[in-house]
Amino acid sequence: MPANATGSLALMHSDRLERVRRALRDQDIDVCLLSVGPDLPWLIGYEAMPLERLTMLVVPRDARATLVVPRLEVPRVVHDPDLFDLRGWGETEDPVAIVAALVGPARRAAIGNRTWAQFLVDLQHHLPSVAFVNASRVIGPLRAVKEPAELAMLRRAAAAVDRIAAELQAGAIPLIGRTEAEVSAELGRRILAEGHHRVNFAIVAAGENAASPHHEPGARVIGPDEVVLCDFGGTMRTDTGVGYCSDITRCVVTGAPDPEMLEVYAVLEEAQRAAVAAGAVGTRCEAVDDAARSIIAAAGYGEWFMHRTGHGIGVEEHEDPYIVAGNSHRLEVGNVYSVEPGIYLPGRFGFRLEDIVATTAEGPEPLNRADHGLVAVDV
Ligand code: ZN
Ligand code: ZN
Repeated sequence: MPANATGSLALMHSDRLERVRRALRDQDIDVCLLSVGPDLPWLIGYEAMPLERLTMLVVPRDARATLVVPRLEVPRVVHDPDLFDLRGWGETEDPVAIVAALVGPARRAAIGNRTWAQFLVDLQHHLPSVAFVNASRVIGPLRAVKEPAELAMLRRAAAAVDRIAAELQAGAIPLIGRTEAEVSAELGRRILAEGHHRVNFAIVAAGENAASPHHEPGARVIGPDEVVLCDFGGTMRTDTGVGYCSDITRCVVTGAPDPEMLEVYAVLEEAQRAAVAAGAVGTRCEAVDDAARSIIAAAGYGEWFMHRTGHGIGVEEHEDPYIVAGNSHRLEVGNVYSVEPGIYLPGRFGFRLEDIVATTAEGPEPLNRADHGLVAVDV
């Protein structure tokens, strides 16, 4: 990596650390503790190994941060001493006691919401007077506002799955005669070939299975004249030490869609378009949800749209802001979220249509551009 890139990376991480400290002060929290999960790599570019040995970054609001890490994993850490101190712990030491000493006389501590209960329970024993709160209240709002470089990565990841969706719609991915699981595996291979380092999911649901929103692709063989719902995405790693996610849903029909399918799909497409268009700066998340839901309900399918309209996306596939009734958060520049209404007719078929959308000062910017239609394929 060129020196200036390293410099801008350090600047980015020190800026994020400063914003976390500011949020801690604003919320009267003394210290933030991060372990496994995406908060830690987002903050300093280091991802904790998800093992039984504790890795934990201790960020006091008014003092230097310290990364407590198993000594055998110290060589994995790209250590920038300007950002944090490094404390490797040996096999006979108690890492929880080390963290507790660094926390000191704190009253309130924010702890990463992906931290294992095992570590939190041990910390509570060591720090009986500390009240623990979820760090998502500190870091969630920061992560929800993407920096320009993050937005660029999300665009890149979206373009990658768009190319796969276009291949699906062009009939380049055989469907008829294959099982859902086989097609899912092919989508997974393509997700990696398109530059992601990890496959997060590749739902393939045929016929009546498409009416189950989180269907697990299985041994069902795809036949002719069926709906095939494909919802897939992965994580694409950047040189910042953290990855950004893609997530797209498109439906195709193997052969000729019947008139009822076309009618239902037209409602869904209109609802999705309305919800995307509703995402101006200052709009409440619940209003974006309602833009889709009211159209589906007016067409008589309200009962069959049983999930929220969308979720934020970034270093995690699901994060703030959630596009759901009751969420009064107002969209701000830098929010990135999915718009994915669905209509699911039990025992028959179902549809979902999903794009990732970024909130910009000029209006909502859909990051996915693959054809929105119910494309008929003959493969
Ligand atoms: Zn999806
Ligand atoms: Zn999604």
